[in-house]
Amino acid sequence: MLSLRNVSKYYPAGFGKTYVLRNITLDIEPGEFVSIMGPSGSGKSTLLHILGLLEEPSEGEYLFLDQPVQKLSERRRTDIHRNHIGFVFQAYHLIDELTVYENIETPLLYKGMSSSERKSRVAELLDRFNMVAKKDLFPNQLSGGQQQLVGIARAIAANPKVIFADEPTGNLHSEHAKQIMELFKELNEKDGVTIVQVTHSDINAGYGNRILHLKDGWLEPAATASV
Ligand code: ADP
Ligand code: ADP
Repeated sequence: MLSLRNVSKYYPAGFGKTYVLRNITLDIEPGEFVSIMGPSGSGKSTLLHILGLLEEPSEGEYLFLDQPVQKLSERRRTDIHRNHIGFVFQAYHLIDELTVYENIETPLLYKGMSSSERKSRVAELLDRFNMVAKKDLFPNQLSGGQQQLVGIARAIAANPKVIFADEPTGNLHSEHAKQIMELFKELNEKDGVTIVQVTHSDINAGYGNRILHLKDGWLEPAATASV
């Protein structure tokens, strides 16, 4: 589903280059729940951004749903963003001026859904996330955990095939973190959403089925299973 072939990312540095990701070859299959771990500065966010089409590889090839990303037209790329990808951020990134309801509705507007379809989809999500009573509140009237629930509701509103999450519980207390990770697990298992998260937490990584370890931009070989 997501396929990186010898992908590197570098930034110009003086007369040379500073490599942030080096020669990454990686396949993520539909229905996987993958965690990216590694020290600060090891390239985790950069890898997530490349996978989520927010950044371009400098070298190598990336296939998203079998399509070579570097050859996509701007229109097709936007289309993929709107229909197939959801993003969840550590700092939630909700729109402060919009209510809970309106935040969740935003991706449906971009997708061009009719007003009645939007109404029923947002109502369904509010109900599922126990946020009906909060629908007219603004983000700054919610706790961090509640804001992240809205962030996730928004990310899945348009039924994306894959969710990319950058430290989704990095700002949350452990009981809220647990709630968020259980929700991801449910989305993965019941709804079949592919999930790729960056995390520092072994507990969070334990919710997934595979861990990728990055170090200095290299993907460390997967540990061989001990029988
Ligand atoms: P990055 O690796 O993206 O540069 P940092 O190392 O600065 O990020 O940490 C990003 C966020 O992750 C911070 O908000 C920090 O509080 C949180 N964080 C760091 N270490 C842990 C940990 N062991 N468990 C949970 N959260 C952590
Ligand atoms: P992580 O998420 O593991 O903390 P990042 O992917 O955020 O790592 O960053 C990896 C390295 O790339 C860091 O050393 C960072 O300083 C560098 N980096 C990220 N973006 C840029 C940029 N736009 N220009 C130059 N260096 C960058």
